[in-house]
Amino acid sequence: MDVPTKEERTAIRESVRQLCRDFPDPYWREVDKKELYPHAFVDALTKSGYLAALIPEEYGGAGLGITEASIILEEINRAGGNSTACHAQMYIMGTLLRHGSEEQKRRYLPGIARGDLRLQAFAITEPNAGSETTRIETRAVRNGDRYIVNGQKIFISRVKQSDLMLLLARTTPYDELQDKTRGLSAFIVDLRNVKGKLEVQPLDLMINHHTNTVFLEDVEIPAENLIGEEGMGFRYIIDGWNAERILIAAESVGDGRWFIERASKYASERVVFGRPIGVNQGIQFPIAEAYAHIEAADLMRYEAAAKFDRREKCGAEANMAKYLASEAAWEAANVCLNTFGGYGFARDYDVERKFRETRLLTTAPVSNNLVLAFLGQNVLGMPRSY
Ligand SMILES: Cc1cc2nc3c(=O)[nH]c(=O)nc-3n(C[C@H](O)[C@H](O)[C@H](O)COP(=O)(O)OP(=O)(O)OC[C@H]3O[C@@H](n4cnc5c(N)ncnc54)[C@H](O)[C@@H]3O)c2cc1C
Repeated sequence: MDVPTKEERTAIRESVRQLCRDFPDPYWREVDKKELYPHAFVDALTKSGYLAALIPEEYGGAGLGITEASIILEEINRAGGNSTACHAQMYIMGTLLRHGSEEQKRRYLPGIARGDLRLQAFAITEPNAGSETTRIETRAVRNGDRYIVNGQKIFISRVKQSDLMLLLARTTPYDELQDKTRGLSAFIVDLRNVKGKLEVQPLDLMINHHTNTVFLEDVEIPAENLIGEEGMGFRYIIDGWNAERILIAAESVGDGRWFIERASKYASERVVFGRPIGVNQGIQFPIAEAYAHIEAADLMRYEAAAKFDRREKCGAEANMAKYLASEAAWEAANVCLNTFGGYGFARDYDVERKFRETRLLTTAPVSNNLVLAFLGQNVLGMPRSY
């Protein structure tokens, strides 16, 4: 991969900004209020090729690095949009890219790059396992040339907006394993042609996220849809975690900048007691402090992304970037809401929507407690909680 120049990165940023101008605040407000999926936006992003940023050129993608992919998602959130509607395709696809067979890559990646296929759903979380992924119970049993899957997944987003779903399921019972990180396998489920019963029940959440409980009853998956080796699925998923954390960090930075920009502008314009509220240090300083935290987190995000793109170890940096940026974005969200006073709660100002949306990033796709546990246990060598 050729590393894009600074000018090329600026051009990507400008071009995403331009695309986002066609989807201003009222678009996202309506999508949120009516709980719609932002099809028009995702279609435009797909058409522009940005959603296929990480797919290598030989499979029809742009062949860019995680730094550029992160700039794309940052700009969407900075423009007031919500890239969680489509970001997962970027990091799910990495599992297929790194661990899929050549035949699987040729079967799916060009279609994803063209926008004919969507791989936006990944089914890992289960009610009885939660953050302890190695405890998942959904079972895939091999029967000749197929696997038969039974179980339940929870919090699975965009299943109805996807053609393909990455599924993590147990192929060896937990009790039979020496190494508990083995025994799980990753599959591509073709949602257009499910044999067996796959029931999708939407969850009623505080954000517009198209998230569901999924019940699988005797769902048949052709053995050729197994990714890599049977029993190695957890390892493959972990491999994608650094990319995921860097992308989430960038989205958080985008949100943070949106909040800071809106708060600074409002604080400068809103006059109470005969002067702009922004002259009061109780309003001005929290905005400046949140700004400093966002900018600091952004440096860690670029450090993590640069190491990732150089194929260096970046677990510590990726986790720190995710933690710092999501917490800084949440701080900026609260500061912005305080600045807007009562108007912050009015839908027309978009602050309450972004406030809800950015809160998710401290919890999903991974909770910040688990990020801190990674730093405490894996980087600092302290005792393990799990
Ligand atoms: C909107 C939304 C969309 C989602 N989309 C998807 C999706 O598409 N696919 C998917 O597979 N999952 C998805 N998830 C699931 C998400 O990844 C999980 O919610 C998250 O990983 C935490 O799991 P849990 O909710 O079961 O929390 P739990 O594991 O029950 O944890 C509850 C709390 O305890 C803390 N905790 C647990 N263990 C420890 C420990 N050892 N040390 C310190 N603290 C600990 C956690 O950090 C958390 O704060 C989504 C979740 C949401 C809310």
